Amino acid sequence: MKNNSLLEVPNINSKDAKFKKLIYDVDDSLFCENNYYEEFEHLCVCSGGTTSSCAKNGFTTLDLRKNYSKIHLDRKTNLVTIGGGVIMGDLINHLQKHNRSFPIGLSKLPGAGYILTGGVSPLSRAYGLAIDNIESIKGFLGNGTFISLNKNQINPEEQLIWEAIKGAAPFFSIITEIELKTIKSNPIKVIEGFVNPNELSEIIKLSEEFPENISLQWIYAQKIYIYIFAELNNLEDKRTEEYLMLLDKFPALEKQFHENFNKINFFPKELNLYELNANNHSEVISLLGEDLKNDIPIFIKCLSEIMDNKPNNSCYVASQQLGCKTKKLNHGSSFFVHRKSTWKPWIYASWKKNDLQEKDVALEWIYKSWSKLKRFYPNIHLAQLHNHLNSHEEEITLAFGNRMNELKTLKNIFDPQGVLPPL
Ligand SMILES: Cc1cc2nc3c(=O)[nH]c(=O)nc-3n(C[C@H](O)[C@H](O)[C@H](O)COP(=O)(O)OP(=O)(O)OC[C@H]3O[C@@H](n4cnc5c(N)ncnc54)[C@H](O)[C@@H]3O)c2cc1C
Repeated sequence: MKNNSLLEVPNINSKDAKFKKLIYDVDDSLFCENNYYEEFEHLCVCSGGTTSSCAKNGFTTLDLRKNYSKIHLDRKTNLVTIGGGVIMGDLINHLQKHNRSFPIGLSKLPGAGYILTGGVSPLSRAYGLAIDNIESIKGFLGNGTFISLNKNQINPEEQLIWEAIKGAAPFFSIITEIELKTIKSNPIKVIEGFVNPNELSEIIKLSEEFPENISLQWIYAQKIYIYIFAELNNLEDKRTEEYLMLLDKFPALEKQFHENFNKINFFPKELNLYELNANNHSEVISLLGEDLKNDIPIFIKCLSEIMDNKPNNSCYVASQQLGCKTKKLNHGSSFFVHRKSTWKPWIYASWKKNDLQEKDVALEWIYKSWSKLKRFYPNIHLAQLHNHLNSHEEEITLAFGNRMNELKTLKNIFDPQGVLPPL
């Protein structure tokens, strides 16, 4: 840490926060009464530090990056054990040395928060969400109780905790260790480039028929950029080529071959994204919904209207594709309840960090855009905790659906003092 009062994290809101105290270890003092008893105060937990909730003005942050950063691959079982403060780039770089990989998301920066909140990867259609690949966890409940749970040895009293760890862990636990299945590292073909709204419409239509080893991600910033991601495993090669040939009619798209997932960087510089711009603060909200089918043309019209109304050039809407294996429940029940979802769009906006008026306008654009997109994507993927925003209550209701009451019960029992972020 360069400066005692600043946290070196990718998220600029959190980086600028004047936190009360920084701690590095999970020990008994964390759970002492009165520590987090002051009104509205709770412990902020930092893993990858990519969200606006890992540090806040006047709050204490538990930074897991220093003491919970180990990565160990068991070569016999191909299970990898990671600390609660490991970032996804370090995980896949470690695995690549052994020709293994993991379905990380579109960025290498997120930490364990990516896994615990679900984890939607371009590989998810073939391998499930990140939570579907959890074999065991260790950590502490908000009341200080140590927990160690293994997928194959869950007793009935632990069942609900195990299911809730997968999708809602941050509300009632601090996870210090996660054991994950790994996958063979295969070559990847990416077809990418700028397209216009009509082309996006056609490509979405094609993508809703893709096999499980191909996924579409698109981003509509100043212009529209798409990535079609195809994992090449020998068995699927011929079929994959047939699908990819359908994209030959879009002249601006380029095919790139990558030896493995690690070699890919999504979001090229030409998009001029504001994500890591040190002068800006930002928020992002993630939605979930099913295939658009016949609604693709109205969706594209709605999207164009949203983009026409953007208050500044930082704003964008993007989407990633899930479905196939993420729809299956054979990895056991979890608190990622919207299993039917096949699209996860997200809405992003930023503002000059001290300009409160611009902040209001940007957030209003996010909320208006969300309400326009709700007819296509009615649910929420709670990848970012927004308990500092007015939308928090609606977001958690739309994220946890019919499991909300169970989550409230778990919170009451296992985090009675509200040490961890509120529901
Ligand atoms: C550039 C970028 C690309 C992204 N791409 C994807 C994507 O493709 N797919 C996808 O699903 N998501 C994606 N995300 C979203 C990201 O996965 C989530 O926002 C995730 O929560 C970030 O985790 P973190 O550890 O980096 O964040 P942090 O800010 O460190 O943590 C976020 C919150 O998670 C909780 N938390 C983190 N670690 C622990 C722990 N060990 N125990 C208990 N609670 C914990 C804490 O409450 C914390 O406040 C992306 C985010 C960014 C910035």
